[in-house]
Amino acid sequence: MSTIPPRRRPFPDFDPRPVPPGTYPLWEEALALVNRDLAATLPEQGELRLMALPHGEEDEPEQVYVAVADGSWHGNPLEREGDRDDPADALADVVDAAQESVVERLWQAWPLCAEHGLGMHPRDVDDRIVWWCAGGGRTGDQAHLRAAVGELGTM
Ligand SMILES: [Zn+2]
Repeated sequence: MSTIPPRRRPFPDFDPRPVPPGTYPLWEEALALVNRDLAATLPEQGELRLMALPHGEEDEPEQVYVAVADGSWHGNPLEREGDRDDPADALADVVDAAQESVVERLWQAWPLCAEHGLGMHPRDVDDRIVWWCAGGGRTGDQAHLRAAVGELGTM
């Protein structure tokens, strides 16, 4: 007699799968903005995409990640708790996840400020998510806002 409990799900269900278009409109809209910045700064990289993994517990929603083009990612799933029907919250979350995956999976600081060559970070400025540069340091340049997310290619 075995005391090992049966697996709750067959193994293949634990493979990550691409999220079908239209499943998470807010995240998809946010990711489209981030992909514009990726295309403008790293045109050799394919688009970022959403990948889903089933939650380990029954009746819990799948976990969704922002992955680089090969389907791999780094970091936490997108936040599903609480009030996530706000586009700005969704964008902030997607930007964080996208940056982590690009930096950790593609091994480079991203995105770089074209003026200073420094890796930028997202910041909420007047309810817009923007890329923020820490500035030139020794040259005395001030920290500055570079562009709204999605608009790096217009700078
Ligand atoms: Zn800068």
